[in-house]
Amino acid sequence: MTKEQYRAILLKYIPESAFDQVYALMIRHGLHIVVSRHRKSKHGDFRPGVKGKPSVITINYNLNPFAFLITLLHEAAHQLVWEKYKRSASPHGSEWKKVFHQLLQPFVAQNVFPAPIAAQLEQDHQSIKYSTSADVVLARQLKEYDNPKQGMVLLETLPENAHFMLPDGMQFIKLQRRRKNFLCLKVVNQRQYIFNPLAEVIALEQPKDNK
Ligand SMILES: [Zn+2]
Repeated sequence: MTKEQYRAILLKYIPESAFDQVYALMIRHGLHIVVSRHRKSKHGDFRPGVKGKPSVITINYNLNPFAFLITLLHEAAHQLVWEKYKRSASPHGSEWKKVFHQLLQPFVAQNVFPAPIAAQLEQDHQSIKYSTSADVVLARQLKEYDNPKQGMVLLETLPENAHFMLPDGMQFIKLQRRRKNFLCLKVVNQRQYIFNPLAEVIALEQPKDNK
């Protein structure tokens, strides 16, 4: 598959701003990702390859983009730890915590996650929880993005400099009015875009300055 084919599929599940890094990770480590039906008991899993078959990561199809990405990195961390330690490292032990934390940080640094989620993921790796449901604070914050329609507001109702997000997870800052429309700054590439004042967006808390 070409990079563009990967992009077309992955953007159904992960924030657009995460794509390049996820793709690089998949290629570098030969991640084999299967999107799965909904499973109540888990968001995803990792099955180590045996007898010459590749390892497989499965992820539930109906997670919101941030939960999907966190699950993908959680399972990728299992694969990386498996390749290095096989059975000598325990599934959510210190080796895994370290790798999971390392995989998350570039996405946090790139502002892929809204600020409240990023704040949870930035904790030092010793206190990072092994799953989003074990981490109550994170689980609650992630849930807010499950039904973005509910949290939608019209762009024109937000104050200047407000942070907001589109349903695909892409984040912007509202700038000044330009004739009938609004100029908005896309956080990942710092470029300006023109928005209709009636665009439905998700208002975000102001992220703290982590530059
Ligand atoms: Zn796990």
